[in-house]
Amino acid sequence: MKSRLDTEVQFLPGVGPRRAMLLKSELEVTTIGDLLHLYPFRFIDRTSIQQIADVRPDSAFVQILGTVVSSNLTGKGQKQRLSVIVRDRSGEMELIFFKGIKYTCERLRPGSSYLFFGKPATFNGRINMVHPEIDNPSPDGAPNSRCTLTGVYSSTDKLRNGGITQKVMNNLVSAALAYAMEDIQETLPEYVLREKGLVPLKYAIRNIHFPSDTTALAKSQYRLKWEEFFLLQLSLLKQKYVRSRSAQGIRMPLVGDAFNACYKALPYDLTGAQKRVIKEIRSDMMSGCQMNRLLQGDVGSGKTMVAVLSALIAVGNGYQACIMAPTEVLAQQHFADLSKYLKPTGVRCELLTGSTTKAARRPIHEGLEDGSVQIIIGTHALIEDDVVFKNLGLAVVDEQHRFGVEQRARLWSKGASGIPPHILVMTATPIPRTLAMTLYGDLDVSVIDEMPPGRKPVKTILIGDGKRPVLYNFMKRQISLGRQVFIVYPLIFESEKLDYQNLESGYEDIVSRFPLPQYKVAIVHGQQTSEVKKFNMDAFAAGRADILVSTTVIEVGVDVPNATVIVIESAERFGLAQLHQLRGRVGRGSDESFCVLMHGDKVSKESRKRLDLMCATENGFDLAEADMKMRGPGDLEGTQQSGLPVSLRIASLAHDGSILSDARSYAEHVLAQDPTLSKEENRPVLLELWDEKYDIRDFSKIS
Ligand code: ADP
Ligand code: MG
Repeated sequence: MKSRLDTEVQFLPGVGPRRAMLLKSELEVTTIGDLLHLYPFRFIDRTSIQQIADVRPDSAFVQILGTVVSSNLTGKGQKQRLSVIVRDRSGEMELIFFKGIKYTCERLRPGSSYLFFGKPATFNGRINMVHPEIDNPSPDGAPNSRCTLTGVYSSTDKLRNGGITQKVMNNLVSAALAYAMEDIQETLPEYVLREKGLVPLKYAIRNIHFPSDTTALAKSQYRLKWEEFFLLQLSLLKQKYVRSRSAQGIRMPLVGDAFNACYKALPYDLTGAQKRVIKEIRSDMMSGCQMNRLLQGDVGSGKTMVAVLSALIAVGNGYQACIMAPTEVLAQQHFADLSKYLKPTGVRCELLTGSTTKAARRPIHEGLEDGSVQIIIGTHALIEDDVVFKNLGLAVVDEQHRFGVEQRARLWSKGASGIPPHILVMTATPIPRTLAMTLYGDLDVSVIDEMPPGRKPVKTILIGDGKRPVLYNFMKRQISLGRQVFIVYPLIFESEKLDYQNLESGYEDIVSRFPLPQYKVAIVHGQQTSEVKKFNMDAFAAGRADILVSTTVIEVGVDVPNATVIVIESAERFGLAQLHQLRGRVGRGSDESFCVLMHGDKVSKESRKRLDLMCATENGFDLAEADMKMRGPGDLEGTQQSGLPVSLRIASLAHDGSILSDARSYAEHVLAQDPTLSKEENRPVLLELWDEKYDIRDFSKIS
């Protein structure tokens, strides 16, 4: 049977072919059903009446009930202006009209009362309203006989010019509801509505457009948001269940001697969070299913040690492990760290990167093939075709966001005898919990939420270009105390040439202010050969240089505990996540550390706010959360939320985190009872999930 929801909007009264085209091109509305699923993004609340004395100039829209005291017409022709004084028990207010003056004069009779609705403004120190809407008060004393919460829909200039005003939208939706209401099918099983106390879909759709009161609106919004998250989580989790049943993994029942030897020789105790995460990983690797785990941990939280111990579990079970880093510098650093940690274990570990010479490559390739190389560290070079493993059991990928889908697939194919290796992806990019649940809904997530003891918070300071001399003096004092300084320049791809110019001139400036022989300045950037890069990095790491001027190549990983200052040039050009990463380069030792954000002359209000947030917030997850709230779920006219697998119609990751958590755990509960959703009672959701928008298998960037 054909549903009336599928009828094209063109057949609604007042919508001809031209308006139908506009609705389609501007709002992607083709059918009556589409129209009913286009929800207002805010409401004009006319449920209450304010006292004139309570109206403030910065109030949003207000509604007053006033008696007309006097009207006064001034000016002539175009300049005509009607001033109406109205009064209630609390005071008086002036209303101003420039248009429709004749009509207004006739309508407003002195001594009668009307409802006025508008946005207050100030003129000559007094509050007035320009062009308020006028309504007659209803006889029963209710503020307004019509609906008192009026929806406001997304709009564009084209729509407005095409005659589709807010009023027209309201009428269209009203007509659509009258026509197709009965054909709206419930999408959630009856038991879900009952157990979660949700209102039925019909009720929700009617009240999201024309709420009978604020409670009905709140219930309807909740139901629609909950459903949106619930379906999304169901589809993600269902894929995860299917995969974990089908993806066979290598069973690794042992901890092994290498693990124990390394553990015993550690110079410090693991933090509680590190221990917990290692337990989670170990239980995955024992399970016989393939591990697909995302490890999140703020910069400096000690992820490397988790990677090392995980690799040693693989080794202890007779398998090889690889650790992939996004840059050469970082791979080298990992190799240096690991060699230290692995010393007591006797495990053979090698480094393979793009700059490994042909001669050095041979024995490494052979060692990987015969299994004598047990752990290999490297860059993308590791996943090239000529790299063959004897039995790769674990792949650790550091900083996942730089690996693409294809590279990931290649990694999988390198597993032992066709069984994919366990995968551990480590990231220091803090993703708010709610976002992680959605973006990585089909992965397991571990979080290191505790810092190793003894780390001091990094003081973050924002200064303008004019204060450069103060900064240089400060740097000199720090250097005289034996500390080191990073200076970072932005490198944004589109203007690479200009950026390098900035970097070079910045470097020259620094060298002239910090002259030899008293000061030594090194420079590192992406256009150097890897030998030069390594030489300069090593010089800084070993303390032979006081200042390192660089692009963001130092963003990830690089560990120089003696560096106490990082100066970030043109900080407004970096994203918050990246700034936080950079800040993590300092504060690694026991000395007090500083992050100095330099900003140019013209910083937008928006950027300024973000930089202030950087200064006020130390914790990466709090920062990410605040950033998301600040940027919000799309602006006034738009609704897009970038980076999401599906677009959300009403729910917001930034503001509805608790609804998301609830919907997710309920989705888990439903799937535990019925993993394939094949029970009759779950039929409605299964039908919903057939919608192509839930076909998001390609989305997960990792597994
Ligand atoms: P991440 O990779 O998460 O940014 P690292 O693994 O580089 O952090 O660790 C940062 C620093 O903390 C390193 O110098 C490391 O040796 C040290 N570290 C790691 N775990 C601990 C711990 N449990 N106690 C003390 N120091 C630790
Ligand atoms: Mg690291």
